[in-house]
Amino acid sequence: MEEEIDGNNVLAQALKQQGIEYVFGIVGIPVIELSMALQANGINYIGMRNEQAACYAAQAIGYLTGIPGACLVVSGPGLLHCTGGMANAQVNCWPLLVIGGSAPQDHEGIGGFQECNQVELSRPYCKYAARPPSVSLIPLHVEKAVRLTRVGRPGVAYLDFPGNLLQARVPSNTVPQQYVSNEVPVVYPDPRSIEQAVLLLMKAERPLVIVGKGSAYARAENEIRELISNTNLPFLATPMGKGVVPDNSPNSIAPARSLALLKADVVLLLGARLNWMLHFGRQPRYSSDVKIIQVDSYAEELNNSLKSAVAIQSDIKPAVRFIVDGLKKNNFRFDKNRNWWTTLNKKCEDNRKSVQATVMDTSPPLNYYTVFHHLQELLPENCLIVSEGANTMDIGRTMLLNNLPRHRLDAGTFGTMGVGPGFAIAAAFWCNKYEPNKRVICVEGDSAFGFSGMEIETMVRYKLPIIIVVVNNSGIYGGLDKETFEELQATDEATQSLPPTSLTFATRYENMMNLFGRTGHFCQTIPELQNAIKESLKVKDGPTIINVIISPTADRKAQTFNWLTESKL
Ligand code: ADP
Ligand code: MG
Repeated sequence: MEEEIDGNNVLAQALKQQGIEYVFGIVGIPVIELSMALQANGINYIGMRNEQAACYAAQAIGYLTGIPGACLVVSGPGLLHCTGGMANAQVNCWPLLVIGGSAPQDHEGIGGFQECNQVELSRPYCKYAARPPSVSLIPLHVEKAVRLTRVGRPGVAYLDFPGNLLQARVPSNTVPQQYVSNEVPVVYPDPRSIEQAVLLLMKAERPLVIVGKGSAYARAENEIRELISNTNLPFLATPMGKGVVPDNSPNSIAPARSLALLKADVVLLLGARLNWMLHFGRQPRYSSDVKIIQVDSYAEELNNSLKSAVAIQSDIKPAVRFIVDGLKKNNFRFDKNRNWWTTLNKKCEDNRKSVQATVMDTSPPLNYYTVFHHLQELLPENCLIVSEGANTMDIGRTMLLNNLPRHRLDAGTFGTMGVGPGFAIAAAFWCNKYEPNKRVICVEGDSAFGFSGMEIETMVRYKLPIIIVVVNNSGIYGGLDKETFEELQATDEATQSLPPTSLTFATRYENMMNLFGRTGHFCQTIPELQNAIKESLKVKDGPTIINVIISPTADRKAQTFNWLTESKL
């Protein structure tokens, strides 16, 4: 008898062949057999609790390794839940493959179970969305989908599999061999633009290097570190560009960020977009005549929002390598006695001092700065930090240091809440494989934690030693004090009187550990927090939750610009 193979196994083999190592998902009709075929073919299948979190985990693996993780979802609602994650990956420029089961084709149009036009639904969040038309064409589409997630600007691909296609059996010898194209082409810069960049940097009075997550993704840390140490240029990292050059480098002028952006005359922009995170490169946050040297591998990004003085289409690595060589040839070094350095250093010092006063205040209810200061003191060096929340993420970013690239994952360009636990799970699997001694710390606002908190069960099931720190101010941005909360909650019209920003006062999130026969930590003071961190670091066989109660009215220190509410329309 002729040997046969079904769609499930053809797909599993194709994914394995194209280098997919991790699939995060939730099973149900029609992908249960597929998940088993994945395991049978040596792929790690990680069962999650919500498709959104599964999708966040898959994309974090893509960012950390450069090889997309896959997300497996069921039809209709399964895929719909996943679209938030797809949009997040696409906006972050991270590689991700989504595999959706869908209703059998002979039920389409007559109200099939979870029938949904999934290819069209995915298209706005994808570089490639397709339904392989037959079992024998599955390997071709898998190759194309995986390749497209990685080349050019990394992004998302979606492949749709109706139940009948997964179950269909065909003679094995009718499935053609598919090639693997695991080389991502490297774009080299035009030498003329490098010369212009070098000249502009040498003439600059107030130069600034901005390091974005594109540099982290490009694995350009060696080149950029050499650039900074050879030239003594000041640099700023974007949130996920942190660690490409160590945060504790003397050239990091993070505390003087606003001033540096405002006064810089030449900005070397390495793998970052001039979007909201960088205030569009425009006034009032930048000088009107700032000259941008932009390096991005994606031509469509060049001159976006602002016309660059030099727009270089290139991978970061070769572009920076050539810029370093050009500057070296000219013996360029930006002297530490230049006015620009004096101004920046003074501003850094002033800002450090102003935070210091808040940090010293250890009286309960605690404030953000004190909590982060002590967390930073006790965290092992070089752990992976995952963070989300509003103030929790913004203040945490300035106080929790990253000295290695790709060691920070947060709400990103799309500002997505709910990413934390999924990212942390991916980071923990990454550690298991590459850095077994490293720890993953997931610093969550209490509101942010609520979006995907049930993934704690996933962490327990796979014994992932993630430390979740919930910085709990009992609300979104801020909450109410105990008395006011209880008073309003007791009224007949609680829906009218409880502010939309408030959450239940001092929720005991740490007790979620009791669900698994474990205990979490409840902290209201610094000694309690210190003890909790030390104890949590000893736990190696699963997650812990440290619930830190802070003041419901704790806030950021005064800011020069209230940028998110600024608009000139
Ligand atoms: P950030 O959030 O740090 O500001 P963005 O996500 O806005 O960073 O920008 C990253 C940029 O890096 C994107 O425009 C993307 O096209 C670019 N990029 C990604 N990979 C590379 C690479 N290998 N070489 C050059 N640019 C890259
Ligand atoms: Mg909160």
